[in-house]
Amino acid sequence: MILLLKRNTEQQQIEHLMEWLKGLGLETHLVKGKFQTILGLIGDTTAVDIDLLNGLDIVEDVKRIQEPYKNANRKFHPDDTVVEIGDIKIGGGNFQVIAGPCSVESEEQLTGIAKSVKASGAGMLRGGAFKPRTSPYAFQGLRGEGLELLEKAKAATGLPIVTEIMDASHLPMFENVDVIQVGARNMQNFELLKRLGKVDKPILLKRGLSSTIQELLMSAEYILAGGNSNVILCERGIRTFETYTRNTLDISAVPVLKELTHLPVIIDPSHASGMARLVKPLSLAAVAAGADGLIIEVHNDPAHALCDGPQSLTPEAFDELMTQIRTLLPLIQAQK
Ligand code: PEP
Ligand code: MN
Repeated sequence: MILLLKRNTEQQQIEHLMEWLKGLGLETHLVKGKFQTILGLIGDTTAVDIDLLNGLDIVEDVKRIQEPYKNANRKFHPDDTVVEIGDIKIGGGNFQVIAGPCSVESEEQLTGIAKSVKASGAGMLRGGAFKPRTSPYAFQGLRGEGLELLEKAKAATGLPIVTEIMDASHLPMFENVDVIQVGARNMQNFELLKRLGKVDKPILLKRGLSSTIQELLMSAEYILAGGNSNVILCERGIRTFETYTRNTLDISAVPVLKELTHLPVIIDPSHASGMARLVKPLSLAAVAAGADGLIIEVHNDPAHALCDGPQSLTPEAFDELMTQIRTLLPLIQAQK
């Protein structure tokens, strides 16, 4: 349930109301937006008398929220959430590109790629240290050593680092990671999500291979409900009957999510398509659809990459793509 409060309501009156509602066993979330102050109520609101609330001096309107996600709901928080990672902002009109290899392979590989994607305009560096592989015999990532190499690449370039966590017990090793990624396969690892709700770092939450938009939002809700409000959503392609591409990019997820939630939404065209030559058109489509950013796999030698070479851009192709994004982005932003 949300209460729209009247303009010029005094803070003390709001606090009294919040105290009273807490006494009814409800959790309250106050959001002071540009145009409206909203008090969100979470918990069992069935016992609350709507007419009574509507009759209060400071209340302009009362609305029940039907959707099961509350904290992630745009009705709760009409303004876009802007996630800040140092000087880097994402969401609310701030577009960011995260780029780097699928997996961290060596210091030369990672630092070399980091320097080149930075020169091309990427705002953050990606690289998997713990890799979720379908086969137990495939390269599983450099694990702890991979995290150390990410830190070195960050020290060499200043780029914040984004990497995937697969198990909450690894969290102490993620101390110096800037954005923790939850991969598609772990989108519904609810114990992991609950733990990440208590972490003071932004979370990049990828959509599960066969998850609906509502399921993605419910997973984000786990993190938000735990107290971590910095969640970035990522559409990375879903399973459909089509087998030509690795997955099917659900481009409509961008405008739909932008409508339903205030959280930033980015696209991963690399895992969505599985093919380097499709990364450019899908990236430009993501920009046109209103995404807040992209996460793109880049490798200095895709043919010899230990993971996901076929979908990795060379640094040169990435540089060309960034030029095209810089041309398209202002045209799209001017339409808003
Ligand atoms: C990745 O980003 O390296 C990855 C494994 O992605 P996803 O979880 O989307 O498959
Ligand atoms: Mn990959």
